[in-house]
Amino acid sequence: MIDASRLKRLFLELVRIDSLSRREGRIAKRLAGELESLGAAVRFDDAGAKVKGETGNLVAHVPGTVDAPPLLLCAHMDTVEPGEGVKPVEDGDVIRSDGTTVLGGDDKSGVAIVCECVRACREGGLRHPPIDVVFTICEEVGLLGARHLDMSLLRARRGLVFDSDAPGVVFTRAPGANHLDVVVHGRAAHAGMAPERGVSAIRVAAEAIAAMRLGRIDAETTANMGTIQGGRAVNIISDHVHIRGEARSHDPARLAAQTEHMRRCFEEAAARHPGSSVDVDVQTSYEPMIVADDTAIMKLVFAAAERLGRPITSAAMGGGCDANILNRRGLEVVNLGTGMRDIHTTNEWLAVSDMVAAAEVTLSALQLAADS
Ligand SMILES: [Zn+2]
Repeated sequence: MIDASRLKRLFLELVRIDSLSRREGRIAKRLAGELESLGAAVRFDDAGAKVKGETGNLVAHVPGTVDAPPLLLCAHMDTVEPGEGVKPVEDGDVIRSDGTTVLGGDDKSGVAIVCECVRACREGGLRHPPIDVVFTICEEVGLLGARHLDMSLLRARRGLVFDSDAPGVVFTRAPGANHLDVVVHGRAAHAGMAPERGVSAIRVAAEAIAAMRLGRIDAETTANMGTIQGGRAVNIISDHVHIRGEARSHDPARLAAQTEHMRRCFEEAAARHPGSSVDVDVQTSYEPMIVADDTAIMKLVFAAAERLGRPITSAAMGGGCDANILNRRGLEVVNLGTGMRDIHTTNEWLAVSDMVAAAEVTLSALQLAADS
């Protein structure tokens, strides 16, 4: 069975180990030791070298007690800033950060749940299929670990990613996203002596953004201009503005349409100001994820929750995670909520009982998978 105090103890230990993106070396070593002590064969792939980080993705093979299809359990080891020197504060069932850093429950709650489930299987002598544990690097900086994951090290074709908030919810749909990098060129001139010779890049950028549909576009689509930098001095007409933004949608056609709309706003604004021009660079951040409720993995998750008498629902999430990439790379994975809350803020917290609930559903799924 899931041991709540053991799970909590491991979580508290893990959040105290600094592991910003590309600096997951220490936590990777700790987790390799944890899994090896449970009889797993642990390897690291070469993703670390590709992203110039301290370590690659951790891939562990836990032998099964029965000959059943292997199941993947996946979480990411890196955390966002400010994430160094985390001092977790316990308040009954709740663990929060001390307000100076994130807690790192994103995604150490997922990592701890996976470790606890493997331990519960091994030490409890439970029936379970072969388990592939994958702890990725660099999820927070563009899903880089999952992108570079050496798929040849995996035996499993389906499984669970633990990287979302709401307990009792399994995320099966996630948006695709495009990243826009825009440079607006104007013409510099002295603002007091010869303003008519200048073309203001700031004005062009402002007109473009003012004309743009941003925020929530429809139920499936959002867009944002996130950063803007430009100008040289108050007495110089600005000749250069750099803007970065994004569009997201669960629907590929709407994602393309919104991205095109944003590009056009810049081009039309530049066209109104002869002498200015724009360079709009669009990169795909990640592709949308759609896993149907009648897939094998979802049937397993629903059955596992039902066995515990706990309802679980499938839902769409607003962000991308490793699951987007892994589905795209041929696996069938869904994202199970761990209880992490107010993530990516210094108010981050979680309830241990939520982590326990997610671990119990997972353990139930492992036992059902052993019978399949
Ligand atoms: Zn995460």
